[in-house]
Amino acid sequence: MAGETFSGGCLCGAVQYEITGDVLTFLHCHCWRCRKSSGTGHASNLILKPETAKWISGEEKLGTFKVPDAKRFRTVFCSACGSPLPRIAPDMSIAVIPAGSLDHEPQATPVGRIFGDSKASWSCDNSDLPTWPEYPPQ
Ligand SMILES: [Zn+2]
Ligand SMILES: [Zn+2]
Repeated sequence: MAGETFSGGCLCGAVQYEITGDVLTFLHCHCWRCRKSSGTGHASNLILKPETAKWISGEEKLGTFKVPDAKRFRTVFCSACGSPLPRIAPDMSIAVIPAGSLDHEPQATPVGRIFGDSKASWSCDNSDLPTWPEYPPQ
């Protein structure tokens, strides 16, 4: 199957990207880091194995923040408007795309909620989706 193309960008429009690849999973994450970095109840992330990834514009505006005590957790954002943007592993093993940064509807739909144990009581929910306490079962 040919990889789907994901294109999107930030709120101010300075940063635009295009990533192709196959979606591995699509999850809502309720962990406290996602709460803080998104400013809302959860992050909604498409996780894929990228085939190609390119910044169409604004690469020089990208900011990044690695949580000091986290193994991997890092945020990528537009330094002009603060919008979350995709995190692409340097070795292209994985890409995490904040679904809200897309300029189109992805074909995939969310499969579940992770870090349900950290979920804020006020966060929106969808009882149709399974919720896992931390990571989903392999
Ligand atoms: Zn921006
Ligand atoms: Zn999270």
